[in-house]
Amino acid sequence: MSSAPTFDVTDRERIACHECDALQQLPVLLPGQTARCGVCHAKLLRIPPGGLDRPLALFSAALILLLLANSFPFMLLDIQGRQAFTTIFGASQALYEADMGGLAVAVFITSILAPTLLITSSLYVLLSIRFNLYLPGTRLALSWISHLQPWGMLDVFMLGVLVAFVKLGNMASMHMGVSLFAYIGLIGVSAAASSSFEPGYLWRRLDRHRWKSDAR
Ligand SMILES: [Zn+2]
Repeated sequence: MSSAPTFDVTDRERIACHECDALQQLPVLLPGQTARCGVCHAKLLRIPPGGLDRPLALFSAALILLLLANSFPFMLLDIQGRQAFTTIFGASQALYEADMGGLAVAVFITSILAPTLLITSSLYVLLSIRFNLYLPGTRLALSWISHLQPWGMLDVFMLGVLVAFVKLGNMASMHMGVSLFAYIGLIGVSAAASSSFEPGYLWRRLDRHRWKSDAR
């Protein structure tokens, strides 16, 4: 059993709904409970059941998988005895050299840049709040996260890889690399990490810290 964060249980300030702007009193919330808007039923605040340890563990695992996915070969191609392997970055580079600059940039952003920024900024925010460090730039990083989320399209990238597997299957024998398995793990872990990440709760922790600092 994880200890319940008592900090929020007595948190009964008024809160404005981000969907309809209705100002309302928060009920007493226990870990795992969600408060919804009385007018439009949008989610106002959810207290994460395991505090911030769960998203912190999941995002740490995602970072390790991301490092593995980008450090090892993605797949090995065997065409009539000639073997070639590539990493994700290598694939993006090859696309660029083959005059497919747009596609190269899209692969780089959606499968390397956006997931890296998303995972590292989420970890920064979680560490900063979980250990009461309130590091500089925490608010900025938290506001970035919602903008970064639509750009992390690992699942779409994986779908493209599967199509390529089927199409190239007749021409060459293909072997999956460590990176491919790391990517498959990363898709699952990232989905779990994102669902345990509660921006509304994190904003509230940051706001409360600011009120306390201002009151001193
Ligand atoms: Zn509302």
